[in-house]
Amino acid sequence: MLEIKQADFEKEVLNGGKVALDFYSTECPPCEALAPKFEGLSELYGEEIKFIKIFRQENRELAESLDIKGSPTVIFFDNGKQVGEKLAGGIKRSDLIRNLDNMIAPDKVKQIKSKIKPIVSEYDTIILGGGPGGLTAGLYLCQARINAVLIDTMLPGGQVSTTHQVSNYPGFIDPQPGFMLAHHMSEQTKVCGTQFKVAVDVTSVDLEKKNVVVDEFETIHAKKIIISTGASPRLIGAQGERELKGNGISYCATCDAKYFHDKEVIVIGGGNSAIEEADFITKFASKVTIIHQFDHLQANKEAQEKAFANPKIEFIFDTEARKFERHGAGVKVDIENIKTGEKATLKTDGVFIFIGMVPNTQMFAGKLETDNWGYIKTDEDMRTSMNDIFAVGDIRSKKYRQITTAVADGTIAAIAITKELDS
Ligand SMILES: Cc1cc2nc3c(=O)[nH]c(=O)nc-3n(C[C@H](O)[C@H](O)[C@H](O)COP(=O)(O)OP(=O)(O)OC[C@H]3O[C@@H](n4cnc5c(N)ncnc54)[C@H](O)[C@@H]3O)c2cc1C
Repeated sequence: MLEIKQADFEKEVLNGGKVALDFYSTECPPCEALAPKFEGLSELYGEEIKFIKIFRQENRELAESLDIKGSPTVIFFDNGKQVGEKLAGGIKRSDLIRNLDNMIAPDKVKQIKSKIKPIVSEYDTIILGGGPGGLTAGLYLCQARINAVLIDTMLPGGQVSTTHQVSNYPGFIDPQPGFMLAHHMSEQTKVCGTQFKVAVDVTSVDLEKKNVVVDEFETIHAKKIIISTGASPRLIGAQGERELKGNGISYCATCDAKYFHDKEVIVIGGGNSAIEEADFITKFASKVTIIHQFDHLQANKEAQEKAFANPKIEFIFDTEARKFERHGAGVKVDIENIKTGEKATLKTDGVFIFIGMVPNTQMFAGKLETDNWGYIKTDEDMRTSMNDIFAVGDIRSKKYRQITTAVADGTIAAIAITKELDS
């Protein structure tokens, strides 16, 4: 591994043959997450490809000339020409491998792959998922001197990282940007000493053996597993939805309704949560238009009656959203009547989507007892139906899913595990 300055760029990179170049910064958690992956792959691919690091803060001119906007960013060169993808943020080992493999001949790739040695590591507890629930469990376990590892397919922080502002987490007078709250939570747990394996591919999870395989080659075994993989809002799948998620489109009225004081919003959905949340949003918004795909609501009668009696709520039935686009500070929504095919465009200050949540249980489907909606059932101490397997946070079958409730679950599971391991 070579570290260069921008003055060496021409010699080492442009005239350097095949190169993987990592622009890193200090005090950069995603850079710390990338460093061991980059290092490990340099040992594997080092005979074919040069692995070079460059400190972005001290080589800004070069970074800007290559349109590098954040750290870490990895770019690839072959004989002076930039090739492959520009990778940034939570870079996975598999992202790097995909690009490295494309730079060399298939027989070389095969040779390199045959050199990968499986690794097995042992911990007291695996925490699967680094949202508020998992991070809190990691903090308590670490403070109790329990050897824990936190594994996340993304960078840690969970749903909080993508939340615009959080104003109901105790301890802060002013609303906190979600990414900062997530950053502080994850740094507190990391500094304490819980090991992090983040932005990894979780290859398999064997709850019976308590093995988690990451990045295909590393088996992590523990005495206990905490599942804290959260739940994801069900997306409509319409064009522009992903881009405006958390920035014009919200999936949480408790969190975001207050930002729409005297504004007009659209709510999509017709079940209990959509109708109850729409009613809640009218405490702030001047008008709520509910768009529902059927000609009647699915919510219970009481919620429906309340919504129909609410002068601030209007309804558009038999209609689906097709496309979301930014429109000034608001959102433009293309809609289509699914019975008549009639199309229209609505302009609004914000959109709330409540068409259900999806628990992230795909990796252990059918292994644990769940409720009718697929959320994992636990006892008071967060124990699931399987010995030594705990579940905390949004993945749990419970009534209220908030940061505070996830944090509470994480605390309880960690204390219960500590007691069991110490006894
Ligand atoms: C837009 C929005 C705004 C919100 N605003 C607020 C608010 O203001 N206040 C509030 O209290 N609550 C808010 N919430 C709800 C709150 O964020 C959640 O209740 C809380 O984050 C749940 O924490 P968790 O740890 O259970 O899971 P999550 O935060 O969902 O974290 C789960 C983690 O698990 C990881 N993961 C998923 N699958 C796997 C896997 N197979 N292997 C490894 N890791 C995996 C994910 O990458 C993620 O990092 C909001 C939610 C959203 C969507």
